[in-house]
This record gives sequence, structure tokens and C-alpha cells, in this order.
Amino acid sequence: MSLVSLKELLQEARSRRYAVPMFDVSNATMIRAAIEAAELENSPVILAAIEPDLVGNMIDYWAGAARMGAISAGIPVAIMLDHAATAELCIRCAEAGFTGVMIDASAESFEQNIAITRQVADLMHRRGVSVEAELGHVGDGQSGSGEGALTGQAGTHSVFTEPADVVTFVERSRCDALAVSIGTAHGVYTTAPRLDIARLQQIEEVSPVPLVLHGGSGTPEDQIRAAIAHGIAKINICSEIMYAWHHTLLEELRQTPNLSYWDATACLAPYQAMLKVMRSKIRLFGSNRPETE
Ligand SMILES: [Zn+2]
Repeated sequence: MSLVSLKELLQEARSRRYAVPMFDVSNATMIRAAIEAAELENSPVILAAIEPDLVGNMIDYWAGAARMGAISAGIPVAIMLDHAATAELCIRCAEAGFTGVMIDASAESFEQNIAITRQVADLMHRRGVSVEAELGHVGDGQSGSGEGALTGQAGTHSVFTEPADVVTFVERSRCDALAVSIGTAHGVYTTAPRLDIARLQQIEEVSPVPLVLHGGSGTPEDQIRAAIAHGIAKINICSEIMYAWHHTLLEELRQTPNLSYWDATACLAPYQAMLKVMRSKIRLFGSNRPETE
């Protein structure tokens, strides 16, 4: 269909109670898998890069592949930068044709988070680019546990979003979407997370903008469904895609006596493994064929 803004995709998802999948896709093969999965399921999709995917002139290669995929796709596609640390990188991405950025100042103080987000929002809005911010802080599950994230204790460094802060934050920062911390964590869970749905409900009741769940990989399906039912309009999936890709590629290479063979051939099975993960997430999030629901 077309390249669309992040804001446009999420407003539609919020009003119709499904979540748009955001897939972190590091290379052209992953970009292609995300587009194909979304087309097969007739779902909107968000393609995301993080800073290491874009070093040097990789930003041009990445944006070229993502834009080409979006423009020729039969479904709406947004292209975004995930977890930007600086306004400079956001500007470079806007100039390369991204339609959304997430500025992550969630580790800063409340006032600093507002100031940094507002600066980026002003810079991006005049370029027609949407801005996601994070209030509270979604920690790292790799070294801690989902349980630790739930309590917001040390080890995961998660800080839950305070519902009372939401309206002030959104109005002053002018963000278009808000990532909330309600019990998920980034990376791989060592124990399953338990989301604070009551908190999410309080946030959704007051939030002027659609809500985003980071750390979607490994979150139990019933909790994902509950989160969507209570206002989550975008869910980020990274770790499960990377695992499907790398694990399958490793198995493929282990079974190959001569490693001097075509990379495109080696990547066939990993591609299918990613496609399977992405299609199952789309169905879980309810973003497939939303116009018929
Ligand atoms: Zn994240």
C-alpha cells in the first residue's frame, strides 16, 4: 500500500483495539521477511532499526531497503528508529525517509525526559515524522528476571510508569506515542513476566496518545492479549526474531561440510524461521485483516 507515519498506524490500532507489530530488522533479509509476513497476514507493520544497524553509511542501505519494501508492499508500513539516544541520529533518520523515531530518555529525570523528548518532537514534527517516548523505564531482562521487572527492583533496573505523570508528560513533551513500563523487560526472560494490567488500565484511561509495549518477546500470550485489551497499540518484537534467525543459521551451517557456499542459500531456512515467528505475532496481536473485524 504505502509508507505511512507511525502516528497514523497507531491511532487506527488504538481505536480498533489491536496492536501493530514492530519488528526489529537488522538487514535486508529481515526487512523482506517482515514485509512478506505482513502481506501474507494482511497486517500493517513497523520496520525498526537501532543505532548499530545504521553505523556509517549503513543508514542509506537500511533505509533504501526499508523504503523500497514499504513502497511496493500491499499493506501500510512505517519505518522507525528504535531507542535513539540523540537528536542528531533522529535527524539523520528523518532525512533518510524514516516515518517515526523513538527517543529514549527514560533513564533521565522526569524533567530531562520531557525536555529531550520535546526537542526531538519539535525537530521531527516539522519534518512530518512521529515521535515515541518512554515514561518510566523498561529494564534489561537478560541479566535479571521478569519477576524483578515486575517489582521494579535492582537487577533489571525497570521503573514502572506512574499513571499520574502521563498527561503532563505527553502534553509537555508533545510525543505521539508512549512506551510504558508495566512489567516487561528487554532481552531474554529467565522467568516469565507478569504484567501490571491494573496500572496499564489507569494509564490508558488518561493517555492522550496510543501506548507501546517494549520487551514483547517471550511475554506469555494471555498477557499480550490482556495488554492489547487494555490499550496497548504497538508491541516491539526483537529477541524472538534474532533467535529464530541466528539459531536456524547456526544449525544450517553446522550441517554444511563446505562453508564456501552461497549466503543466499544458507539464509533460506533462517528466513522461513523468522517468517513463522512474525506471522504468529501478527495473529496474536490481532492486526491481521483488521478492516474485517
Ligand atoms: Zn525497547
